Amino acid sequence: MTVAQASESESRKLLVALRDAMAEDSAGQARLDKIVRLTAQSMGTEVCSIYLFRDADTLELCATEGLNPEAVHQTRMRVGEGLVGRVARRNRVINTADAPGSKGFRYMAETGEEIYSSFLGLPIQRLGETLGVLVVQSKEAREYSEDEIYALEVVAMVLAEMTELGAFVGEGDALAAPHQRPMTLTGTVAQEGVAQGQVWLHEPRVVVTTPVGDDPDIELERMNTALEQLRVGVDKMLAGARTGDKDQLEILEAYRMFANSKGWRRRMEEDIARGLSAEAAVEKEQSAARVRMEQVGDAYLRERLHDLDDLSNKLLRLLTGQGSDTGAELPDEPILVARNIGPGELLDYGRSLKGIILSEGSVGSHAAIVARALAIPLLINVGKIETEALNGDPIMVDGDQGLVHLRPDDSVKTAFQDKIAMQRQAASRYADLRDLPATGTCGTTVSLHMNAGLLADLPSLDGSGAEGVGLFRTELQFLQASSMPKRAELSAQYERVMNAAHGKRVAFRTLDIGSDKVLPYMKPEDEPNPAMGWRAIRVGLDKPGVLRMQLQAMMRASNGRPLTVMFPFVAQLHEFNAAKEQLDKVLMREERLGHALPSKIEIGAMLETPSLAFAPKQFFDDVDFLSIGGNDLKQFFFAADRENERVRKRYDTLNTSFMNFLEMIVGRCQESGTALSFCGEDAGRPIEAACFAALGMPSLSMRPASIGPVKHMLRRLNLVELKDLIDDTRNGGAQSIRQDVTAWIKDQIG
Ligand code: PEP
Ligand code: MG
Repeated sequence: MTVAQASESESRKLLVALRDAMAEDSAGQARLDKIVRLTAQSMGTEVCSIYLFRDADTLELCATEGLNPEAVHQTRMRVGEGLVGRVARRNRVINTADAPGSKGFRYMAETGEEIYSSFLGLPIQRLGETLGVLVVQSKEAREYSEDEIYALEVVAMVLAEMTELGAFVGEGDALAAPHQRPMTLTGTVAQEGVAQGQVWLHEPRVVVTTPVGDDPDIELERMNTALEQLRVGVDKMLAGARTGDKDQLEILEAYRMFANSKGWRRRMEEDIARGLSAEAAVEKEQSAARVRMEQVGDAYLRERLHDLDDLSNKLLRLLTGQGSDTGAELPDEPILVARNIGPGELLDYGRSLKGIILSEGSVGSHAAIVARALAIPLLINVGKIETEALNGDPIMVDGDQGLVHLRPDDSVKTAFQDKIAMQRQAASRYADLRDLPATGTCGTTVSLHMNAGLLADLPSLDGSGAEGVGLFRTELQFLQASSMPKRAELSAQYERVMNAAHGKRVAFRTLDIGSDKVLPYMKPEDEPNPAMGWRAIRVGLDKPGVLRMQLQAMMRASNGRPLTVMFPFVAQLHEFNAAKEQLDKVLMREERLGHALPSKIEIGAMLETPSLAFAPKQFFDDVDFLSIGGNDLKQFFFAADRENERVRKRYDTLNTSFMNFLEMIVGRCQESGTALSFCGEDAGRPIEAACFAALGMPSLSMRPASIGPVKHMLRRLNLVELKDLIDDTRNGGAQSIRQDVTAWIKDQIG
């Protein structure tokens, strides 16, 4: 038997002994005591100790063989403190022959550890979540071998799984089952509002109930069968993939690479040889990949590690038979928890969701826009939410402060409910303003409209007091469908929208697909930069069939009533003219066919590229109205991707350059008498809205829930004075007017 084989067989014996210890009907503490005893014996070390987290920053000695037993549940250290705290902070192994001489060493007198020279500590972690630290120590000054580290890693893995299963529950915080403690997590607000409900995991986690394998040969066979199934599955996905979808192909290629990776397979085989079950071996490598993921800065590598994570989940599902569909029912008040989600998937859930929490995501994404359209509070970048939350956990989303309260305790619940009550009061104050105009104290009136995209949004038209729909995003219906909608379906939908608007103006924006709005039934383009690629009106003009079908559906829906059409992403005069030509063609055809024509057609364009602001005067004369799509306009103005959290926040909307630019657009529209509105997300933010209005923006379109707060703000301000302040601030050389404006508003309205 080679040294490695001997070590593997020793590991296996230890794991089987640990499993048997777990099977005994003993308390959590007794189990931990047995584990440290067995591990020290098997490893031939004088000390083995287990430290577990008692709260987010403190570790507690929970069991020891070799150190002073009195220190158990007494010795505590903060993350980062001493060698144990450093293992937890850095999520890495510390292996030293001279612990007292090592950087960060802190002597814990009560443990009596001063006589032990060597120290090997490693994190007890599960899927990137550190649950504690496992340590062995010896008097002899020596570094532990690779084999010994491996053996201890396998023990740590079993410990992590057992902790997850609640095997060590007992007295005290550190011995509480994981996923039971209340916790507060922070994130970035993508949609304001508060919500409470129960966790609904978009991708439910697989639970490994048998971390130790009975027979390595059987486990190996199970692993081989599952890997083979996985490979066949990936090949099938690749064969069925759409050739133009670069992202999908890249992911599938990465899947194939990992599924065939000898290194990955070898590591899992070694884990099995040391006594882990096949599923525990997959999870061990998955955990290691998650830790690497947290440490890797390179976006491409992170994506690939994500792919490995996804593939590991697939393999786990094959091994455990636990599918995505766990049979669990959507709770009454579901708060969706996911890594990320596309706009189409979100629409599938629709309004049943009370809140959405993503561990990644971006504020400018269309999923965020859908969440806003549906008025569902959304937090993004909430790290650890996926590993912490379990299906059905009580959860509260504070989309004003960017906080998530998971399994909140009573005091948090009460404070939260007070907050909800206060918001209700504010909502009723806004309701009182519903029929009043948004007129500032200077007498200037701004017209407020709402953005919509679904028929279900229309009731908000009356409720919010909006004068009309300034932006109807027609692509949401396309995103919801599984195949290209037919003209008759579209026409029926638009008719319902117009009926529900009761004569108020609805600006129908023609299809804005491309960028991240990918229709599942349309061949996606392989583009290096889809936000600046073949999207919106560019697609409409190159493939005018769908554009004409949509225009025809709108005309039929109007059935003799006035119609407002808006073309998205127009970058130059020529594109607008070409789109208008298509509309004229449809109009003539409809007339020929004897259909009732709209009594009046307003034809507008979205100003979303800086170029259009500099278009020939002819354009401003020809277009009936312009609507500034600030979300896109800002990303192109500052060259800052609206979906990239890193750069998105670098540039303030109230940046002087952007203000000057908007003012120039206002000026050009005034010169030519062109109606102008602003319909990007910023229009719904009261301070931004006030600045736009002060610069002369006559109309703003926003999500319905923002109309009350914006109107409340505008009615209390003198916009002429605000304009003077903006001018002074700009002339003073400020990069952004935000600070001065915010202080001034505070001074004005308290
Ligand atoms: C915008 O770009 O501001 C806009 C309203 O369009 P969308 O967000 O749908 O791209
Ligand atoms: Mg846009």
